[in-house]
Amino acid sequence: MLTYLDHNATTPLRPQARKAMLEALDAGGNPSSIHAQGRAARALVESARKTIADALGVLPAMVIFTGVGTEANNFAIKGAPVERIIISATEHSCVLEAAKATGKPLEIIPVTAEGIIDLAALEKSLGTGKGRALVCLMLANNETGTIQPVGQAASLAAEHGALIHTDAVQALGKIPVNFGLLGVDMMTLSAHKVGGPQGVGALIVRDGVVLEKYIHGGGQELGRRGGTENVAGIAGFAAAVQAAIDEMPEKQTEISRLRDLFESQLQQVSPDVVIFSNQVERLPNTSYIALKGMNALTTLINLDLDNIAVSTGSACSSGKVTGSRVLAEMGVPDDLRSCALRISFGWNSTSEDVSKFIKSWLALVARQKQNAA
Ligand code: PLP
Repeated sequence: MLTYLDHNATTPLRPQARKAMLEALDAGGNPSSIHAQGRAARALVESARKTIADALGVLPAMVIFTGVGTEANNFAIKGAPVERIIISATEHSCVLEAAKATGKPLEIIPVTAEGIIDLAALEKSLGTGKGRALVCLMLANNETGTIQPVGQAASLAAEHGALIHTDAVQALGKIPVNFGLLGVDMMTLSAHKVGGPQGVGALIVRDGVVLEKYIHGGGQELGRRGGTENVAGIAGFAAAVQAAIDEMPEKQTEISRLRDLFESQLQQVSPDVVIFSNQVERLPNTSYIALKGMNALTTLINLDLDNIAVSTGSACSSGKVTGSRVLAEMGVPDDLRSCALRISFGWNSTSEDVSKFIKSWLALVARQKQNAA
């Protein structure tokens, strides 16, 4: 049996999402067609849009479905009517790369040793730069799980006439997310991080913010994003969001207990283990750990042989030998960075997963000690 502890990379498809997708696939039809089958497909898309809008406290017209979260981030950053961009140092690579690709002046705001943005530096940057800025600050980090002070950053952005976008891909379904309460202008979501399918995301855009078109085509998504909608994917996305909302907060309390159990057992067997960002508010499901001497890639491969799936950090960067950029920005030294493993729990995680991990970990630590002797 697989012990899957990599929910931040992709959360397994929820049964509710699978059911909604199968029904949508069977229904067929192009949502832009006028006949009955087309209208049925349109109804599925619009009902999903309403579900997602309700979950975030926005109007359905503010939800633009996209291909992936990466596309939504690119759309927000490349399409924003601004002259310069300010991002935090620990944004997902798709935010960093999209910001660089605009060719606009880019300022990167440092984070503390716990991974929290330096708000004073953000305020200084907002106050000193020339031209209207776009601030990009993720709601929760994909590696450490740290929750950023997006509401405070949004107030600062508003004071300086800037726009603010938040990448809420990792936060949705794990903590309450309300667009209006955060006070942001744009927000990115991705279905596969909440138990929906891969290959569908959304950008929420506040009324009054007009983005330059990123994907040209037909008049879909109120003319803002061309291309026939991924009806089954969108239906699965909404079903997953609804399921996550329905089980909150009880399920997240259960998951955070599981994560805490995992961390306390790990500390018992490996007292020298470092748990990143555990002194600040973080997602209930995420644990980012490192034990000096336990190389992350070797450990990951050995855990994989034991049928345990974890990751060395962001799925996009885990193949790279340089180690986590997020931890580097937090000032974590190279020898510890190369040992960083991300364990992320989710809707189908159990205490057996914790026991299985600890058992394998103990064997690997013992083997590593033997090899080092
Ligand atoms: N933003 C964050 C914080 C993520 O963790 C990810 C996925 O790894 C993305 C954006 C990209 O989302 P997608 O995989 O849907 O392109």
